[in-house]
Amino acid sequence: MIGQRSETSTVSGAHFAFTDRWGGVSAVPYEELNLGGAVGDDPDAVRTNRELAAKALGLDPAQVVWMNQVHGPDVAVVDGPWGSSEIPSVDAIVTVRRGLALAVLTADCTPVLLADPVAGVAAAAHAGRPGMIAGVVPAAVRAMVELGAEPGRIVARTGPAVCGRCYEVPEQMRADVAAVEPAAHAETSWGTPAVDVTAGVHAQLERLGVRDREQSPVCTLESGDHFSYRRDRTTGRLAGYVWLD
Ligand SMILES: [Zn+2]
Repeated sequence: MIGQRSETSTVSGAHFAFTDRWGGVSAVPYEELNLGGAVGDDPDAVRTNRELAAKALGLDPAQVVWMNQVHGPDVAVVDGPWGSSEIPSVDAIVTVRRGLALAVLTADCTPVLLADPVAGVAAAAHAGRPGMIAGVVPAAVRAMVELGAEPGRIVARTGPAVCGRCYEVPEQMRADVAAVEPAAHAETSWGTPAVDVTAGVHAQLERLGVRDREQSPVCTLESGDHFSYRRDRTTGRLAGYVWLD
């Protein structure tokens, strides 16, 4: 019971899923399927939503690993739920445990799901503008390679995110971003400086040799079926999930 604009795909036993905002129990302004626990929503509603989303995907809610995302470049290797230990402040998690789902929360930032089905290594990363610039996605790929993955076998999926035609930034910020990642240089549909974070992520993956890549067609800011922080400020969070059979 997740919305009709959710996106799911499977490649050689690697599963990728991105939610939309429908099918949950949260009240305005988090309606309906808010999966973020730190945005002001009722914690009971978030817990119910996480259970609903997991069941819709055929997952055990207790076998979904979430991050404490801080827009940084750090990666954690995980082999099970955090349990009673403190959830680490990282923006990417990697696992070799089949059946364990890795989840990333977003509302405009780019959710990045990676899997090498042959090696049995999966990763989820949160790439907003700061994280993309800091290199969180290349860091996740490097962590996967250390665990046996090969870039040429990695399947990459990026989910709904604010697009380069909508993500307006000051001229200097665009210049600073483009100095690090030229592919992220963009212009809004109204002709002002912009950043395309997803384009930057795909350029980073291309340079690392990750060729099997797909990008969600959805712009969160333009879609009424998705949460957008830049549009609504107080709003929910979408989730991306990756796991291996
Ligand atoms: Zn857009």
